[in-house]
Amino acid sequence: MLKRVCALTLVIALLLLPVSAIDGERIARRGPGGTGKLALTFDDGPHPKYTEQILAILKEYDCKATFFVIGENVRAHPELLKAEFEAGHEIGNHTDTHAMLNTVTLAKACLEVNRCANAIEEVIGVRPLVFRPPGGAYSDQKIRAITEMGYRCVLWSQDSRDWTCPSVETTIQNAKKDLSGGAILLFHDFNGACSPTPDALRALIPELKAQGYEFVTVSELFGDG
Ligand SMILES: [Zn+2]
Repeated sequence: MLKRVCALTLVIALLLLPVSAIDGERIARRGPGGTGKLALTFDDGPHPKYTEQILAILKEYDCKATFFVIGENVRAHPELLKAEFEAGHEIGNHTDTHAMLNTVTLAKACLEVNRCANAIEEVIGVRPLVFRPPGGAYSDQKIRAITEMGYRCVLWSQDSRDWTCPSVETTIQNAKKDLSGGAILLFHDFNGACSPTPDALRALIPELKAQGYEFVTVSELFGDG
């Protein structure tokens, strides 16, 4: 009887929760804390100008990262996607054309996600398990649908703001601000003409490693294997 009352209370409590409180758990800004693990993430590639440089730096410091790629860039540079995957990095879905989810219909959003996954699967033979909405723009409805498609949806806790092309030092300070274990760091491997990212990584990675941090993929950060 007590069990039934407890279950009923839980159901009522869930019904009374604002929808956003439930949906808020569907998109994560950081992983579990207290682990000393960090997730480096690179959005918008692959692109010949910066992806290779970043891959070389990650190899030099033996770091694993996650690349949130765009389907149309995958079709243009499949060899770079292959290089990311073969180096042991995670490939994430960032839509097919960098579609801002707050400006498209639900059907179009799902199509964008599926097209990107198809482009990835065609090159590396597996579909991605993690998704990041372009520009961090989303609605609860679309994130719920993408979660139901099997994705873990993530944003970031540290914005390097490298896409605004600040100095290398400012990029590093942005990435380190209030940093702690479980953090997800946002960078880009496609910034157009200018990018402080490779130089910032060359300084930031050894500094954070010296502090005892370990760099893992997004799925590893969440213990998804
Ligand atoms: Zn993006």
